[in-house]
Amino acid sequence: MDDLTGRVAVVTGAASGIGHGIATRLLAAGASVFASDVNPDIGAIAETLGATGIVADVSVDADMQRLMAQAGAGGGIDILVNNAGIGCRGTAETLSEAEWTRTIDIDLKGMFLAAKHAIPFLRARRGAIVNIGSIHAYLTRGERVAYVAAKAGVVGMTRAMALNHGADGIRVNSVSPGPIETPELRESWGRAFPERTVDETLAELGRALPSGRIGRVADVAELVAFLAGPHAGFINGTDILIDGGAHVGMGFGIL
Ligand code: NAD
Repeated sequence: MDDLTGRVAVVTGAASGIGHGIATRLLAAGASVFASDVNPDIGAIAETLGATGIVADVSVDADMQRLMAQAGAGGGIDILVNNAGIGCRGTAETLSEAEWTRTIDIDLKGMFLAAKHAIPFLRARRGAIVNIGSIHAYLTRGERVAYVAAKAGVVGMTRAMALNHGADGIRVNSVSPGPIETPELRESWGRAFPERTVDETLAELGRALPSGRIGRVADVAELVAFLAGPHAGFINGTDILIDGGAHVGMGFGIL
């Protein structure tokens, strides 16, 4: 395991799912973690982990400014994990302008705002940013026009940030997960396939992937910790799919 002792990390959307797992993994590696979320329970959730919880909305400039100022007050930030995100269903015809704007604001602009305010603190420590994208940037299904646009934007924005801030010693990468078992995913697939149990649905999708299972939060957290850590020093501007091989083809197709 990478030793992140003495490193300061900020994780957005850390109250649940993948962000919670990333915060847990970075803490286990020795980092001091500022776990932020729009969920007002983040203080209590972070406390149980041993992190500092900060309520902040990634789509609000002042919130991101306050979050980074607090996390960086000790002399800098080493790691920013831009994880907060929401799903969104709809086509160009059915989606309202408000839904489009909300999705882009949280899933794409939020990562820009967090980076914008973290960069001065990351520069001080030659830190790293890891943005959480999605397989939907490459291989999509269903009606997700705003989500796909945002996640494809994350891949492009990652490359631009890596180019712009490499001279400061800041590395910027992204990871694009396929289906990862989280409470949110269980709930949405439970709704989508009410005729069978969620476990049956997840097992069936898993069997259709080359890896034979869907992803776990820990799979993503491990990759993020690696990209944020000292052994990934020459990895920059890259997006890594972590999808059990879903992008090479899958038979079931309910992703
Ligand atoms: P989740 O809903 O379990 O967690 C998302 C967290 O983000 C929640 O705690 C939520 O409160 C927080 N959040 C939402 N809006 C916010 C805002 N405006 N400001 C701050 N926090 C906010 O979802 P998850 O599945 O853990 O997803 C985490 C990330 O991973 C997202 O970016 C998502 O798009 C991405 N992702 C997830 C999967 C999957 O299968 N679970 C696959 C690909 C990508």
